[in-house]
Amino acid sequence: MQLQGKRVWITGASSGIGEATARLLAEEGALVVLSARRRDKLEALATELSGQGAEVHIEVVDVSDRAAMAAVGERLAALGGIDILINNAGTMPLSPILSGRVDEWEQMIDVNIKGVLYAIHAVYPGMAERKDGHIVNISSVAARLTYQSAGVYCGTKHAVRAISDTLRKEAIRFGVRVTDIQPGSVDTELPDSIRHDKIRSAVKDNMYAEGSPILKPEDIARAVLYVVTQPAHVDVSELLIRPLIQEN
Ligand code: NDP
Repeated sequence: MQLQGKRVWITGASSGIGEATARLLAEEGALVVLSARRRDKLEALATELSGQGAEVHIEVVDVSDRAAMAAVGERLAALGGIDILINNAGTMPLSPILSGRVDEWEQMIDVNIKGVLYAIHAVYPGMAERKDGHIVNISSVAARLTYQSAGVYCGTKHAVRAISDTLRKEAIRFGVRVTDIQPGSVDTELPDSIRHDKIRSAVKDNMYAEGSPILKPEDIARAVLYVVTQPAHVDVSELLIRPLIQEN
């Protein structure tokens, strides 16, 4: 029970990495606030976790909705504030830039960058005031590298990494820790957000090539648990985690 008494907000908790992280952190005694757009998924997870004795709150919210995220921030402040933010919600509608899917570019920017910032803005002032807190952003190996058809996605994840490291420096004086976790390929619903048919099948073929085990969401959840349970003087600034078989 390493997180007894901690209040943790996990964005994108309705599936994949967020869901697995919610399970593990709740098991460790945290009060978990689960947010995403799919109410049914959040409610099912909340029922499961509260059945195991966890304290769970749900926030159905689109992270790209600035006003709604500010309202979440106010409700969380009324709850006593958030000790740990797992800034995880993200989307990946990949396509070559020439295909000009401008709406999808904007969606990635809105969710992966602005959504991350809105969540930070919702909890960081409270953390700074209390001189305690931890913000864990889930970027990607795509925060370090670039891949064809992933120009905008990589751009958003490079941005998250840059924002994380800047925030880390600014937050030191407030005793607030910041971590950027960079997963390689993880077996989740993420490739389903690719609406370009050829690219979606190519990405899935590549991720799920026979005999090539990729990461499970639980592998990243354990990394999250590791970073948030270090002694107060330790800041795990970045963590890059690939499946053994992934070269780049
Ligand atoms: P999933 O698709 O399983 O999960 C994405 C989560 O984000 C869902 O809970 C989804 O919930 C939520 N989400 C998406 N859009 C919005 C939105 N507009 N508002 C609120 N919530 C939203 O994928 P992963 O678990 O893989 O993704 C989690 C994070 O990990 C992402 O940031 C992703 O970029 C990153 N990542 C994933 C990798 C992988 O290989 N899978 C590799 C590297 C990084 P809902 O639809 O209910 O809103």
